[in-house]
Amino acid sequence: MAKLDQGPPNYKDMLPPVILENYGKWKYHEIPRPGVLKHVSESGAALYSVRVGSPRLVSIDFIRDLCVVADEYCDGHLRFTTRNNVEFLVSDESKLQPLLDSLDAKGYCVGGTGASISNIVHTQGWVHCHTPATDASGVVKAVMDDLYEYFNSMKLPAKLKMGLACCLNMCGAAHCSDIAIVGVHRTPPRINHEIIRKGTEIPSLVASCPTGAIRPDPKNKSVIVNEDKCMYCGNCYTMSPAMEIYDPKNDGIAILIGGKTSNARSAPSFSRMVIPFLPNNAPRWPETTEAIRNILELWIANAHKGERVGEWVERIGWEKFFSMAGLPFSSMLIDDYIFSRETFRTSASFKY
Ligand code: SF4
Ligand code: SF4
Repeated sequence: MAKLDQGPPNYKDMLPPVILENYGKWKYHEIPRPGVLKHVSESGAALYSVRVGSPRLVSIDFIRDLCVVADEYCDGHLRFTTRNNVEFLVSDESKLQPLLDSLDAKGYCVGGTGASISNIVHTQGWVHCHTPATDASGVVKAVMDDLYEYFNSMKLPAKLKMGLACCLNMCGAAHCSDIAIVGVHRTPPRINHEIIRKGTEIPSLVASCPTGAIRPDPKNKSVIVNEDKCMYCGNCYTMSPAMEIYDPKNDGIAILIGGKTSNARSAPSFSRMVIPFLPNNAPRWPETTEAIRNILELWIANAHKGERVGEWVERIGWEKFFSMAGLPFSSMLIDDYIFSRETFRTSASFKY
């Protein structure tokens, strides 16, 4: 019988010898060129990590191709980063340039280090989930194609992290990214009373609504939605297939900016909505790529060295950001959820 509950394999069984020998004894690191990290240990041993972009959703053939490269240049060792990049781990410096040449010839994208745009952390989209308001892989490909020059260089004011979530469940990092792309609905759910009667746990469905827009309808053994209270989050559809909410004409994308998770210089922060809606214009999402490029270029032109997007906006003020970006400010951007008071200005200090 197969062994059960054995957990993941011990990661130490897969480390290159240079990492095992110098584990916990690294002295410093540097970035000799975009996409290449050099770690030097107390013993003087060096490890080069060559970072390569990946589309995250890959075939087994892609994985096998990576393994062939790792076998040839890295004694079979590689790793995936927390942003789903691949790192080839080279302990023999003489193999570094041949590896880079080979990756270049094969069309791999080397980059994602330092003050660059690394991979976009993203979700399932129309490939596999049942609740998305937009796609993930398609939008990410369109945006990274447009911004590729910032992946394989380090010319930004600071690192820029992007996240995409195809619905407000926000699987991933959209709530804490410098720039976030989030799928949004704009129409209320359509109730299928038959499905509710057949198999929905009504109290859980009622409790799933953050605004209390759903109430039981005992006469019909179903529920009623107060559409004036609904803000189209889609949580009720997660609870019950009777609450279909997707709407190809009205679903789309919101853009949020200014989030970060690190504690460097300033505290971690949530990203905030600056564009409430852009259309789902597949397959290249031109409105979304253009909006992101505009925000990015404004940040590049105006931020101080080392300033993340949120830190820059906090310094200049949100009013100034909206006027510089030429973005319309609407009531959609004013928080009206339970703890919204904290987000209002309670000071006379502002710029005309
Ligand atoms: S963000 Fe929403 S739609 Fe996207 S994978 Fe997560 S739950 Fe599914
Ligand atoms: S979409 Fe969200 S706000 Fe609207 S009824 Fe469903 S759970 Fe409530």
